[in-house]
Amino acid sequence: MSVRIIISTEETRLKFGQRIQRCYGCFVAFYMKDMWLGEDATYYCEHCKDDTMFHFEQFSRVLDVSKLPSLQTDKEPH
Ligand SMILES: [Zn+2]
Repeated sequence: MSVRIIISTEETRLKFGQRIQRCYGCFVAFYMKDMWLGEDATYYCEHCKDDTMFHFEQFSRVLDVSKLPSLQTDKEPH
């Protein structure tokens, strides 16, 4: 394990969270850290999200935010 890699990943995550993104539902701009990720890399605010979406705190930790890969929905908790 490399501490340096963990730190730089966290930095990338925090920077990513400061980006402005327009909600696909209501078209209001929000910080990424306040948004939810839906399928097809669409982002929604807390008013427009639904239960299938992932909050920034979740997806930013499990996904490589620098590459923004498509979501894998193999384990969907109910
Ligand atoms: Zn919205």
